[in-house]
Amino acid sequence: MALKLGVHVSIAGGISNSVSNATSIGCTAFQIFSRNPRQWKAKVLGDDEVQRFKEDLRQSSINPDSTIVHMPYLPNLSAPHSEMYEKSVTTLTDEITRCNSLGIPYLVIHLGSHLGKGEKNGISQLVNACQSAFQVYKDKGLSKNSVKLLLENSAGQKNSIGSKIEEIQLILELLGTSEYGICLDTCHLFAAGYDLSDDEGINKMLDLVEKCVGIQHLKLIHLNDSKGELGSNLDRHYHIGMGKIGENGFKALINDKRLENMPFIMETPIDSIRGDKENLGHVKQLRN
Ligand SMILES: [Zn+2]
Ligand SMILES: [Zn+2]
Repeated sequence: MALKLGVHVSIAGGISNSVSNATSIGCTAFQIFSRNPRQWKAKVLGDDEVQRFKEDLRQSSINPDSTIVHMPYLPNLSAPHSEMYEKSVTTLTDEITRCNSLGIPYLVIHLGSHLGKGEKNGISQLVNACQSAFQVYKDKGLSKNSVKLLLENSAGQKNSIGSKIEEIQLILELLGTSEYGICLDTCHLFAAGYDLSDDEGINKMLDLVEKCVGIQHLKLIHLNDSKGELGSNLDRHYHIGMGKIGENGFKALINDKRLENMPFIMETPIDSIRGDKENLGHVKQLRN
């Protein structure tokens, strides 16, 4: 099976540019923001732009099922009731709409922060946020929803929701799996205390995913090494094999039979040590 591997690519100059940005460095999967991730307001996606994106994707070698949108950074879906919460739900609805029009099947969401109100309250806000965003989308009477929200694990920063696989299991049980799946970020897992530095650790983690959620609901892996130590709760991505997880862990992960058809997306730094192309090449070398 060919490796579905890519990076987070830029949409500068228009969303359709993402396709050539991805193919020009050899991606067989890619992730984008559908807008500037550091602003609340977003330009409406024009029909032209949407058609160009779909056409470019159709002519490329990338399968639409290996394309992903990541939610912008500002929303907090587990915030207590507030203007922030309302805006977050509106942004989520908007992103679901944009994914549906672009034909992108997966939208990755961060599970947010309960801001001191406690995990239980945070989870209940999050579940409400997701359900009302889908409801508002349905009420718009557009095409039938074909987007799955992928719940991404967190690094376990203070007040954050979803650093433990069991907690994500609980959230998924509340939401059901028809419109939801999970995305695991290796850097976040490691920072949250899951040792992924060798095949034993990788096996243990995947066994837990299998037991709690089922591998079939794991739809995406964010492949990032960790600059922070095991259990440090630091969300600091690093080049594959050069961080605290190291080469052996990644080798075991990308060659695991259970993940044969899994898209892997890197969100690694671009600096004088390596760029995206070098990290892509490096992972390909680790594949047996
Ligand atoms: Zn993320
Ligand atoms: Zn991260």
